[in-house]
Amino acid sequence: MIKLGFKEWFAAGSAIAKGDLLRNSGSHQFCARAEKRLAEMTGAKHVLLINSGTSALTCALAALGVGPGDEVIVPAYTWMASAAAPLHVGAVPVICDIDESLTIDPDDIERKITPNTRAIIPVHMIDRPCDMDRIMEIARKHNLLVVEDACQSIGVTYKGKHLGAIGDAGAFSFNQYKNMTIGEGGAVLLNSDDALARAYNYHDIGTSFRNLDFDTSNDLFVGLNLRANEVQGAMLNAQIDRLPRRIEKLRKRYDVVRDSMDKAGLPIARHNDADNGAGLAVTFATEQEAEQFAQNRIARRLFDNTKHVYTNWTPIMEQRMFHEKMNPWAWANRKIEYSDDMCVRTLDILRRSCGIGLGPQYPVPVVRHFAKKLQAPEISKSEITRGTGKTPIAT
Ligand SMILES: *Cc1c(COP(=O)(O)O)cnc(C)c1O
Repeated sequence: MIKLGFKEWFAAGSAIAKGDLLRNSGSHQFCARAEKRLAEMTGAKHVLLINSGTSALTCALAALGVGPGDEVIVPAYTWMASAAAPLHVGAVPVICDIDESLTIDPDDIERKITPNTRAIIPVHMIDRPCDMDRIMEIARKHNLLVVEDACQSIGVTYKGKHLGAIGDAGAFSFNQYKNMTIGEGGAVLLNSDDALARAYNYHDIGTSFRNLDFDTSNDLFVGLNLRANEVQGAMLNAQIDRLPRRIEKLRKRYDVVRDSMDKAGLPIARHNDADNGAGLAVTFATEQEAEQFAQNRIARRLFDNTKHVYTNWTPIMEQRMFHEKMNPWAWANRKIEYSDDMCVRTLDILRRSCGIGLGPQYPVPVVRHFAKKLQAPEISKSEITRGTGKTPIAT
């Protein structure tokens, strides 16, 4: 978890001192400045600050016109918000397996495509990029939209491109666990003027006339209030200053730990862009080995990460919205069913995998120290045969 410092304190204070915190009142422009800088950094055509990563995903889908009757393919391993966002625009999530890279499996995406599929949400989990070359190829072939969930990988690149700026839209989160934080917040990355107009409208209750230098020829429609305020914008500018160094440190730790793990003969998980790796993981042959390895100070078994595993997305698995008639599953063109065993391959991989914490809270020498202590778990053959199936599917 990232701690904020004097820079953010001072930035927030400056915004408060100006007295006017509404971003679009025009007197000062902390949000606009942060948006411009994020667009320059990522290469996205437009960036819109917003109040959370969940809102960013929802707003991106609304901006691209995804709605009732549409199916959106999401991975079985992600924070529940990625699967909830389609529901907020009336579409339904179709849950797709991950592969050994721990991100969405392009082969399974192809299997899950139906005539109703409208979009794919690849999620770049724990600073690890999805196989975007293949995903974009599949999307182009089937005429699908791609909304990248880059909430967990801000500042990380895939083959030189910033995650979040490769597809039609992308989402960032600035909650306190992400690579940049302002407490709560998010950003939508968009690659067309029309999508920006619609996103702006959606995030400000359908009042996009408020933005003075904005093309309002787009038809207005009802939206929500998902606006970020100027204190958030000011703090975010301070965080943007810090990001390059933070990512550089993340990469450095990645190299240090990967070296140690190589030497210890640990089974490093496949990475879709290993040369620019920032998120490290290991996948063992058995779940017992992963459980044992998770005893290490900087390791965590991915299966134990609660609502990041689809079997724990209770309201989605049980298809429950806030009102029985507000039911995207009833608007779908076919019956959509979920069950705990629909993505057993994902469960199997997550049970055998551990993420390695390369968090900025640890200085590199400390990480080096922990890395040296990482050792392959020693599991006797008898334990392997005895222990299988001990973890229930739903936790
Ligand atoms: C954090 C996160 C979100 C949601 O972000 P919030 O700002 O908490 O709404 C969405 N997707 C993923 C993968 C996340 O990790």
